[in-house]
Formats: sequence, structure tokens, C-alpha cells
Amino acid sequence: MESGWGGVDKVKSQGGFAENLKVPKDDEIIIKILDDQPFASYREHWVQETKASRKTYTCLGAEECPLCVTLGHQTSAKIMFNVADMSSSDPTVKVWSMGTRLAEKLKTLAQKPRTKPLNREDLYWAVSKSGKGTSTEYNLEPVKADDLDDWGIEPLEDDELDDLMEQRSDQSIIKWDSVEDLEELVEEIL
Ligand SMILES: [Zn+2]
Repeated sequence: MESGWGGVDKVKSQGGFAENLKVPKDDEIIIKILDDQPFASYREHWVQETKASRKTYTCLGAEECPLCVTLGHQTSAKIMFNVADMSSSDPTVKVWSMGTRLAEKLKTLAQKPRTKPLNREDLYWAVSKSGKGTSTEYNLEPVKADDLDDWGIEPLEDDELDDLMEQRSDQSIIKWDSVEDLEELVEEIL
């Protein structure tokens, strides 16, 4: 962390973090999946026991992670894809962060002739969800580029797609804390 105006410039030059994709409830959005497989998968702790506003901590692995080792604290899986959100006239790259259930669904689709690879050029997806909390169900329906018209959406031009591909996030967006920092956090909780 850095204080003063220098810090602002530094943060700015590192580029903005991609926004997370939010699938609205009981509505459908069109996306294009930009990766043929997740660009990152890890486990995360949701820590509610401190007064800090920050709640999420990347798990360092069951052997090493003080939250796991000392507290036996629960983790949940985070699996991430880059997608283009087609819902505005100016499609933007977003990170679709999901749990294992949805990821398994995508894995199955990634193996089917009709929907592989997930980022195939002519392939878009209509995504909706229902239910809430742990019972949230995602519905994914493949949409061919030619059928986008039904949603009033134009397929991406080659150069638009190239541009979006360049804005994809990679594993560097995952925040890692040191063992020492997580030990301090554990101290705070105990
Ligand atoms: Zn852990």
C-alpha cells in the first residue's frame, strides 16, 4: 500500500480490475465466453469474525494456510472465466467468478461437440439464474452468432473480439497474503 498522490498514479497505471459479471435474477443476458477453460481457480476464505471491511482471503492451501491449519476455517472454490458482456452496445470484458457447480456445468458443455470449445468464434451464451444463495441455479443456453439477431445484438467483429481478448484478466488479479499476515489475522480472531 502506498500513501499520497504517487500511490494513486501507481494504482492507475496498473490498470483497472475487470468488473465482475453479475447475472441478473429472472432475466437473461448474452455473453461471449473468451476462454476455453478457467483462467484461475483457487479457494477462498470468507472471514466475518473481524471488524475489518475486508472479508475475503485466498487460501494458501490446507497444509500452509493459518486459517485452515489453526482455525479449521471453511473455504469455497472460486473458478474464473473472462467473458464479454454483450448487454450494452459497447461490449466489455468482465470476470465471471463461480463455484464448482456452475464450473462443472461448463466443463460438461466444453466437451460437447455442439458447444466446444466454449470460446468458439460463432458461439455466444444466453445466461440466466433462478433461486438464491446456495440454491442458485444457472441456466446456460448456447446461441449461434447468426441467432443473436433475436436479442437485437450484433455479433462481434474480428477486431472488436481481438480488442476484448487483449483485455482479459489473468491469475495476477488474485490477491495473495503472506503466511505471516494470515497468522496475524488468526490472532485477531482467536
Ligand atoms: Zn486456508
